Amino acid sequence: MKTRRLFTFLLIATALFSSSCCSNNEKSAPKSAKNVIVLIGDGMGPAQVYSLILTSPEKTAFQRFPYSGFSITKSASNEITDSAAGGSAIANGKKTNNGVVGMDTDSIPVPSMLEMFSEQGKKTGVVVTCSVTHATPADFLAHNISRQNNEEIALEISEKEGLDVLFGGGKKYFTERKDGVDLISKMWEKGWNIYDSLPQIEDNNAKTMVLAARKHLPEAPKRGDFLPNATAKAIEMLDNEKGFFLMIEGSQIDFACHDNDSATLVEEMRDFNKTLDVVLDFAEKDGNTLVVVTADHETGGLTFVDPESRYTRTDFKFTTGSHSAIFVPVFSYGPGAERFTGIMDNTEIISKIMDSAK
Ligand code: MG
Ligand code: ZN
Repeated sequence: MKTRRLFTFLLIATALFSSSCCSNNEKSAPKSAKNVIVLIGDGMGPAQVYSLILTSPEKTAFQRFPYSGFSITKSASNEITDSAAGGSAIANGKKTNNGVVGMDTDSIPVPSMLEMFSEQGKKTGVVVTCSVTHATPADFLAHNISRQNNEEIALEISEKEGLDVLFGGGKKYFTERKDGVDLISKMWEKGWNIYDSLPQIEDNNAKTMVLAARKHLPEAPKRGDFLPNATAKAIEMLDNEKGFFLMIEGSQIDFACHDNDSATLVEEMRDFNKTLDVVLDFAEKDGNTLVVVTADHETGGLTFVDPESRYTRTDFKFTTGSHSAIFVPVFSYGPGAERFTGIMDNTEIISKIMDSAK
């Protein structure tokens, strides 16, 4: 009898506890992200982020993110990845060989997250400061055995369905081609609006490409606020009821580090930081936007050293003119952001994003 009473009590207690537990869970259940913004700092390892913190009197945008982790960047072929394979793993979740964009190691095209979100009815966009045919944007927009095939990649982009906004450089791959085809005229015929600069945009609802340079844009700060302005314009054009996916690249952090040029690196990081502030200001106001910031790999083997071994100075020291194998940071904000913590492989980023935006 005693046992039975205890059992009944336990049953009631369990029911009470679990009902209060579940209603709490429902209240705090993470909501799904309507919009996803991925920012890639090409070549941006932990030291590149720290170079900004070291030289900024103000708190940086990186310090606004509530969650952070690390991503392992090696490719299928090499311990040290290039941008093609590193970006491809982020874009589609498959390791591939250095030099390959948007394909697996058997040269089979793999759908990118931009393509998957477009299939779901979301608007999509890409904003970069390099040629739009360069490795990182190509990883999201195209599928090619070699990153060097800029003209083939431009052709694939020109025929792409499900892309709404594309801002960057690389006009020559569309108009000065070996096959003599003017892809820009062809795209106008298909309904695209195409310009040389952002202020020329008149219709926010049309598919729009801005190619602001023949190849890459100038380095920071010579290109002005192209990246933060292009980002703000892209968000304004893409924001809609069904949501959007936007990939933004700080393309030339990598270039400055290949050159072991610390002054330009800091300018590139300031430019990327300004862009992050634009994105976070929108995401905070919107409340339905997942923001993920990461890198394809580190460039330059950068560290900060005390040259006299007396703790008197902190000098930038690059240890290579190439890429390094060190893992890269991941920062996240918004619905699902808590998934991007700890040490992850670069191939895991896409599933964490897709799970957050279900
Ligand atoms: Mg790149
Ligand atoms: Zn590089």
